[in-house]
Amino acid sequence: MGLIVQKYGGTSVSNLDRIRNVANRVAKTYDSGHNIVVVLSAMAGVTDGLIEQANQLTETPDKRELDVLLATGEQMTAALLAITLESMRYPARSLLGHQAEILTNTTFGNARILNIGAGRIKALINQRHIVVVAGFQGCDDEGNITTLGRGGSDTSAVAISAAIQADACEIYTDVGGIYTADPNICSKARRIERICYEEMLEMASLGAKVLQIRSVEFAKKFNVPLHVRSSFNEEEGTMVVNEEDVMEKLVVSGVTCNKNEARITLRKVPDQPGIAAKVFSPIADAGIQIDMIIQNTRQGGQTDLTFTVPEKDFNQALQISNRIANEINATEVLGDSDIAKVSVIGVGMKNHSGVAAKMFSALAAENINIRLITTSEIRISCVITEKYAELAVRTLHDAFSLSNEKI
Ligand code: ASP
Ligand code: MG
Repeated sequence: MGLIVQKYGGTSVSNLDRIRNVANRVAKTYDSGHNIVVVLSAMAGVTDGLIEQANQLTETPDKRELDVLLATGEQMTAALLAITLESMRYPARSLLGHQAEILTNTTFGNARILNIGAGRIKALINQRHIVVVAGFQGCDDEGNITTLGRGGSDTSAVAISAAIQADACEIYTDVGGIYTADPNICSKARRIERICYEEMLEMASLGAKVLQIRSVEFAKKFNVPLHVRSSFNEEEGTMVVNEEDVMEKLVVSGVTCNKNEARITLRKVPDQPGIAAKVFSPIADAGIQIDMIIQNTRQGGQTDLTFTVPEKDFNQALQISNRIANEINATEVLGDSDIAKVSVIGVGMKNHSGVAAKMFSALAAENINIRLITTSEIRISCVITEKYAELAVRTLHDAFSLSNEKI
């Protein structure tokens, strides 16, 4: 008998039939003798719909009130599941974030969990209740309702698992796990059986949208093994675990692609101390996150500075860049949002040379021009023209034999 946390995402609870399906799965786990805490998302589309309604009233909805509004999505599914379970004669109890004592800071819309007073959850479990917790929400020390950022119910589930020292944290979603590439792009993509937190973090931040990044950071910090799997079948999914627990360390475990970035180049920037700070401080002040930065070698006391920003912030970043270019006497600002970043990821890269060369050759063989390159210890990313993104993913997937190797 174990203590299991099961988190169900928006598509798994998107209508009453699917909530019944979840109730049956939960009941089965309970019947096999386990104690169980269920963490839920809102029905798919509900959070978006609520945001849209608030935006129809005003362009700048009050952040505190917006969180009160958004938290209702998860309140609804938690109650509906508890009602279903009760109707099946299972002892179920729903808890909202504050009732589950999920204490956060006061950053409305993107609050961080500070502590979980798991007393009430544990007491209910000890009475053999099924505890259903509304994900994505908590409260600050003054009792204000907060939300944890989009996709935040993953983080609720992981944090609760850590707080109650659950034996397993299962993340149920509409895909079968984590794949070597997006199966919609690459038909040969295969499900990965085990992946380590570091690789998952790179994948999550590069566009594999299965888990909220913060939930993976949390899982890594508190050593919570995650099992990402589908709520629509019984198949095993992907285990996200410590590096030591991944038996076979492949050089490359997966290929990702992110089209939501844009590139900005400041041409002929004076190559002097303080210039980079002048360029990037105002962009950071505008809350825009920069991903890649590349500075060319100096020529005649000048250099080109290129960086990438999220596509949604492109226009604002361009405006700021034009202003700065004027101030620092850069000759020109160029921008381009038709770019994609393709990356290969794998912890095995730490001990292997030649991965970059192989990646570049594979792209070259397809005549795909590489415009920017960055690397981390376990990742190599290339920016290419957006229309070649799918081809690049398939090419790299083949080049690193990801469909053949046993993972
Ligand atoms: N309902 C929230 C969202 O759509 C949280 C979640 O689903 O994890 O972002
Ligand atoms: Mg999600």
